[in-house]
Amino acid sequence: MKRRNFIKNATLSSAGLAIGSSLVGCADTSSKEKNSTAATVNNASTAKLPMVIATWHVIDATAKAMEVLQAGGNALDAVEQGCRIEEANEKGQSVGKGGLPDRDGNVTLDACIMDKHGNCGSVVYLQNITHAVSVARKVMEDTPHVMLAGEGAKQFAVSKGFEPEDLLTEASKKAWEKWKIEAQYKPIINIENHDTIGMLAIDKNGDISGACTTSGLAYKLGGRVGDSPIIGSGLFVDNEIGACVATGLGEEVVKTVGSFLVVELMRQGKSPQEACEEAISRIVKKPNSQFKDFQVGYIAVNKKGETGSYSIHQWFSMTKFQDGVNEQIQSDYFNKA
Ligand code: ASP
Repeated sequence: MKRRNFIKNATLSSAGLAIGSSLVGCADTSSKEKNSTAATVNNASTAKLPMVIATWHVIDATAKAMEVLQAGGNALDAVEQGCRIEEANEKGQSVGKGGLPDRDGNVTLDACIMDKHGNCGSVVYLQNITHAVSVARKVMEDTPHVMLAGEGAKQFAVSKGFEPEDLLTEASKKAWEKWKIEAQYKPIINIENHDTIGMLAIDKNGDISGACTTSGLAYKLGGRVGDSPIIGSGLFVDNEIGACVATGLGEEVVKTVGSFLVVELMRQGKSPQEACEEAISRIVKKPNSQFKDFQVGYIAVNKKGETGSYSIHQWFSMTKFQDGVNEQIQSDYFNKA
């Protein structure tokens, strides 16, 4: 799959916005269209359990999660195993091994996981360990902490038996070298069909868990951490209400505590779709919002198994595996101008 980028670049204002759809969107729409069902509302009145949803087009990952669920596994195991598929996929340049590096050439990973009890674990700025989501789970289960960062996180992972490895693949190294010449050190956000992987599952007992894993904003400043490992921003699970996970420009998600917001909106009675739309609206309606220059997308599920997904720009999608159907569903979006 050809990589596509969205450049968060101040020069891309009004004039650039006219070409926003080609930047934000993807040239390669054919496979999406083939695999997609246009949908603005993704609700089922009697949703069947178990079920799993994930950001972007990741049917192998949702298939793995469903395999776990159908074998009687719980939602927590399902989201971890599902995310691991994409972390190990070297072709995906936004997650785990093969992730695009920061501007200094270092691949740094952020991930988190949250269970039905509200327990959570997170790793930030983790290097040389492919399965960041599993390290996050170990933080949750084997430490009194929620978040470990950098070298400490890596040492912890090694102490738990994770093998350090070089995560910078030849393809990502080449892309970075090319970017250094052409992009003049402006941040780039990846909008390809395969971005931060966030996954939410409900098991046969009706319990919800979620996970999120990413190499973050490509060519970010060294040390930068996005929303993905921050509980409440990149991910939030409340087993009484539902769950949400985010993708896109993390700074904008953090500023609105996006995933927590979506879950709280569902608590107030909004459907997952309405809640995602309201959370996007909080970003785009800010005074002086530069939303035309960046993407944010949310997916959410409520306790009934109803789902929603919404983004600022076109071409965001959700993969949903429910009732025997594993499919990509194109999201509705705000910027139709
Ligand atoms: N949300 C991630 C971050 O800001 C990146 C992404 O989803 O594309 O690090």
